[in-house]
Amino acid sequence: MKEFEYLSELNDAQREGVENIEGPSMIIAGAGSGKTRVLTYRIAHLIRAYDVDPFHILALTFTNKAAREMRERIERVVGVDARSLWMGTFHSVFARILRSEAEKIHYPRNFTIYDTDDSRNLIKIIVKEMNLDDKTYKASTVHNRISAAKNRLIGYKEYNSNPVFMAEDAESMKPQLGTIYKTYQERLFRSGSMDFDDLLFNTNILLTEHPDVLLKYQHRFRYVLVDEFQDTNHSQYLITRKLSAVHQNISVVGDDAQSIYAFRGADIQNILNFERDYPDLKVYKLEQNYRSTKTIVNAANSVILKNKAQLRKNVWTDNHDGSLIELLRANSDSEEGKLIASSIFEERMNHQASNNEFAILYRTNSQSRAIEEALRRRNIKYKIIGGLSFYQRREIKDLLAYMKFTVNPNDEQAFRRIINLPKRGIGPTTVDKIILAAYDHDITITEVINNAQMFLPGRAAMAVGNFAQMIEIFRKTMAEEDAYNTAVEIAKRSGLLTELYNDKSLEGVSRYENAQELLNAIKEFVDDDELEREKDMAGFLQEVALLTGVDSDSDDDNDKVTLMTIHMAKGLEFNYIYISGLEEDLFPSQLMLSSRADLEEERRLFYVAITRAKEKLFMSYAQTRYRYGRLKHCEPSRFLDEVDPQFIKINQRYSSSFVPPAYQTNYAKNLVDGIRKEKKNQPLKRTNYRPPEDFTPSDTSGLSAGMKVEHPKFGYGKVTNIDESGPNRKAKVYFDDFGEKTLLLSFAKLRIHTN
Ligand code: ATP
Ligand code: MG
Repeated sequence: MKEFEYLSELNDAQREGVENIEGPSMIIAGAGSGKTRVLTYRIAHLIRAYDVDPFHILALTFTNKAAREMRERIERVVGVDARSLWMGTFHSVFARILRSEAEKIHYPRNFTIYDTDDSRNLIKIIVKEMNLDDKTYKASTVHNRISAAKNRLIGYKEYNSNPVFMAEDAESMKPQLGTIYKTYQERLFRSGSMDFDDLLFNTNILLTEHPDVLLKYQHRFRYVLVDEFQDTNHSQYLITRKLSAVHQNISVVGDDAQSIYAFRGADIQNILNFERDYPDLKVYKLEQNYRSTKTIVNAANSVILKNKAQLRKNVWTDNHDGSLIELLRANSDSEEGKLIASSIFEERMNHQASNNEFAILYRTNSQSRAIEEALRRRNIKYKIIGGLSFYQRREIKDLLAYMKFTVNPNDEQAFRRIINLPKRGIGPTTVDKIILAAYDHDITITEVINNAQMFLPGRAAMAVGNFAQMIEIFRKTMAEEDAYNTAVEIAKRSGLLTELYNDKSLEGVSRYENAQELLNAIKEFVDDDELEREKDMAGFLQEVALLTGVDSDSDDDNDKVTLMTIHMAKGLEFNYIYISGLEEDLFPSQLMLSSRADLEEERRLFYVAITRAKEKLFMSYAQTRYRYGRLKHCEPSRFLDEVDPQFIKINQRYSSSFVPPAYQTNYAKNLVDGIRKEKKNQPLKRTNYRPPEDFTPSDTSGLSAGMKVEHPKFGYGKVTNIDESGPNRKAKVYFDDFGEKTLLLSFAKLRIHTN
């Protein structure tokens, strides 16, 4: 057995999980017990001991960074090239598959991926177009509802024909939600775009409706492995079930006590379904924690015990007792930041620790500000993971929008962003006209702007025409050159780079540097032949769209304290962990607390936070904090009481004894009042018309007033007037369901009915 020496790095239970490679298997075990390690070694073992070609293995992880680290680990353990291993998040792996199968589900190969911002902007536009109240139909609320539906595989048609959803929406005073969902989906489709949820939704459609495609991937992925299984949603669950239906080699690892994404559709039920769906399931138990001190493990156990809904586990460790958990008590949020900074300073001195051994965790991103200030004052280097990341910066999004529109001639959001950027005197009315013309004539935005003079009055047509010509140049470059050269051409010729360069303010300079950095990233992408992937611009855009918060951490200087939300910290470990803001209404979060189930999810989040620590854990809270623009008095979190007190000590030096008077606020009341406004909605146009399968447009050269016509979108209508005056023949048609429309005959798809 000498050649499998790596097996000696596992305990007996882990080893069993690694060596039994055939059939379905599941490990549900506590934090730090080596679940991810088992998954990693299992893959290594498949390759090394069973000669499985990495090409046949699919491993799904929580972040792409986790996948990268796993791949490196595997390569180190077995010393083989694991490049052809399929690894990554659900979204990135299936986006890749969708790209190569796009035509089958009627999407262009170069479909754009809308990030959350893009999705919400589109929803805002739709809400506005429908004349609905944007407070009732808040983009984030609408988006969450649509997202939840998609993750349960409920398309807009099912949604709109389901009386339960209709009743729920009526009750929450959002009766138009179904219509928004439908319009949103149609607009995405027209734009050749998918949002994040579509990547899973459409994969399910692809695998269900195309048995040949399913078969291909079933044979390709003979071994399917899933980490963090507790946070998969229904849609993801079904994908893995379909893919592994033939070989049944699926192994999942997770921890029900760390399920923290129910609010985004993660379904703990998947663990129970798994046992039902795979009768031959082998279940392995891991109980020994290798990550943390006894103090930390036992403290975590004492907390999670309070949850009713959980599978009981016995987690223990052989590690040393370690120090007690330290509690830092501050007067204010800014003092909390200072106490944390001082404590880090001291620990670093006393234990010769380096910055990268520390992580500060918080419940919401906005908490980072006070902490950052304190760290800067102390000259402690830090990095923020998942905050406003590089790719969310304005100048980067601008450049990316140019690239997206170059790749996808119908990307509405990208088009809206760039058409007047830098300023070309093209106003919102012109933009709306263009989008409407594309819609009315069922052609792409590019076709409209390439024929601008047909759709727009003189001056606007000129400006838009120039823009269109420029985009065509970019497309030509893209066809001939690599992604980097194309990007450089875009950055220069669009005028964006010059504009940034000319802005000599401090902010402007850094924006210019960011733009250059984006070009560097593209160069790197083009030059990198580490992984098998598409090297074109569409490939680059896809990779960027699917970066998770943790992935975009590309900082070379690694000796920094890490700041992030607890959600981002899943699966990670640090020697020193600070959990900040342990206050009622903040953690547990007031926004999440509407039932016991929600409180239990918050508690699991607390459990995740505690179990990230290897050596020493700190918890802190402030007695006052600015929230929603007001100073608020805070109660210590109930979670502090739930940690067995024998494991905690109050750090006297880093705690203030002064208790300020209670500051009363009525911000909660203001919030509720704001939500209660309602506005009358305008009725929507509806049509029952469905174009026949064999719709073919007629030759319209002989079209004249009085003729009956059929249009694939507007249904039946009658021609009321033909305008032959200009170079472009136009017809006015009165449609039964939509009223009068003016159509350009060179584009309009009309079928003439002679009877
Ligand atoms: P989480 O629930 O947080 O995702 P996990 O169960 O995936 O945790 P791992 O991250 O795989 O746990 O392991 C936790 C730590 O313990 C890692 O540093 C890992 O290298 C170490 N470890 C796991 N098993 C062993 C072992 N048999 N011997 C030594 N170290 C181990
Ligand atoms: Mg893990």
